[in-house]
Amino acid sequence: MRSNPSDYEMVAPGSLQAIVSLLAKEPGAWLPIAGGTDVMVQYAAGKLPARKLVNIWNLPELRRIEVAADEIRIGAGCTYTDMRRHETVGREFPLLTTAARWTGGIANQNRGTIGGNIVNASPAADSLPALLVYEAELILVSVRGERRVPYVAFHTGYKKTLLEPDELIRAVCLPRRFASYVAYARKVGARNAQAISKVCIAALGLLRNGLVEDVRIALGSVAPVPLRLRETERVLRGRSIDSDLLLIARETAIAEIHPIDDIRSTARYRAAVAGNLVVEFLSRLGSEGAGIAGTTNVLASWNLLSTGDAISTILPCCGSRAWAQGVAARRPLADEDALLAASNETWRSLAQSDWMEAFQSHPRIGESRAQQSSSAQSSAWSTQEQRQVADADAAVKAALADANRQYEQSFNRTFIVCATGRSAQEILGILLRRLNNDAETELHEAAEQQRQITEIRLRKWLQP
Ligand SMILES: Cc1cc2nc3c(=O)[nH]c(=O)nc-3n(C[C@H](O)[C@H](O)[C@H](O)COP(=O)(O)OP(=O)(O)OC[C@H]3O[C@@H](n4cnc5c(N)ncnc54)[C@H](O)[C@@H]3O)c2cc1C
Repeated sequence: MRSNPSDYEMVAPGSLQAIVSLLAKEPGAWLPIAGGTDVMVQYAAGKLPARKLVNIWNLPELRRIEVAADEIRIGAGCTYTDMRRHETVGREFPLLTTAARWTGGIANQNRGTIGGNIVNASPAADSLPALLVYEAELILVSVRGERRVPYVAFHTGYKKTLLEPDELIRAVCLPRRFASYVAYARKVGARNAQAISKVCIAALGLLRNGLVEDVRIALGSVAPVPLRLRETERVLRGRSIDSDLLLIARETAIAEIHPIDDIRSTARYRAAVAGNLVVEFLSRLGSEGAGIAGTTNVLASWNLLSTGDAISTILPCCGSRAWAQGVAARRPLADEDALLAASNETWRSLAQSDWMEAFQSHPRIGESRAQQSSSAQSSAWSTQEQRQVADADAAVKAALADANRQYEQSFNRTFIVCATGRSAQEILGILLRRLNNDAETELHEAAEQQRQITEIRLRKWLQP
């Protein structure tokens, strides 16, 4: 039911002093309204409990950003647009400007304020994890004066805060000591803007000599309040980022959060996404923090894909769907070694029918079309692998075609060899030798060749 405007009273005293005096006279009777982007939603839905509103929008005392030597003070009445446009905020606190960019649309960013986001106290609010990792402090003001409280203590439970009925948030203070940290933020929702987060993360990290010197991770939408993952941070400090640590971090993070099922998502999905985001952050920290580019980024992105997308992405490296499923199930994989180990173990555990599926994804030696339709990527790799065969003279090509026919008559499948770096003559020699194999020996030889092909293709895939 919509509210009736005549039931409401609104005043605009125009100065901070006059407003806190009004709040002090009748504590709890007056509801401050800043940008109104939360208040007016409640009003429109007929759910606004307060009948008396005091306007704090555009109050000069609340709408400035002050840069001191050791901290930056963002007035509680600053909008998302104010923060996005501020040079120092953008340079030193990118997690905050990124969250501001995600918050609603442009109209909402021009109107919504950081103070309103904090007091509205939604566990899904996008700016709040950033405040946690930057160790923000809030300046609260009333007629009794000012007090400073760490933001981490401000939200005491679902939609509950430390704010007294006669207090306003005056400013958000951020210490200026995180500019050199690797910063990572991500919002997972139906869309990035104009959608409430299913899970969002803000994280900071610093590596020294390959070890995690400092790390700060906070998540939204996984507990009644935005949550700093202290235990996960503790297990990470002093360690180098490898596949073991990624697994431990994922498990610790999932154990530390308390997600719920609601209309936007399920607890199970939120837990899985939270673990993925922590792993993605650490992979980013590992590559950016140590200056290692490339392969880790490809893997980090792949680690976060849905299972279906992860399978289809690596399928051309081998051709067996069961192999791709097995490798994808072992995510997160931290580096090339972990990926190749997962690939080899999975390959060796497969059934013969899965090996056959992989074999069928290759063209005959000397040809370009596979027996079974294969992806454009797989065909391109086959062409590269057989480059030397393409350049062979006609007599060798004819001998290969003849030996291929004999092989298929004997073993009822395409001859598989790791052709990379081998001449046509060399491949012909291998083919003629393997024609003498018994069925069992030849199957295992072909499987080993396929394992080597897969390894080479995985290495190529990792190159960005
Ligand atoms: C279309 C739309 C999309 C949105 N998308 C997002 C999103 O993607 N992510 C997200 O996090 N939020 C989103 N929001 C929520 C909203 O924009 C934010 O919470 C906003 O920051 C609230 O600020 P405000 O100034 O509009 O608060 P108001 O609505 O004016 O106030 C909200 C609450 O804060 C109190 N308050 C405000 N300022 C102070 C102060 N200085 N001191 C004490 N109390 C104060 C008010 O009394 C009220 O209880 C969206 C809202 C809309 C309407």
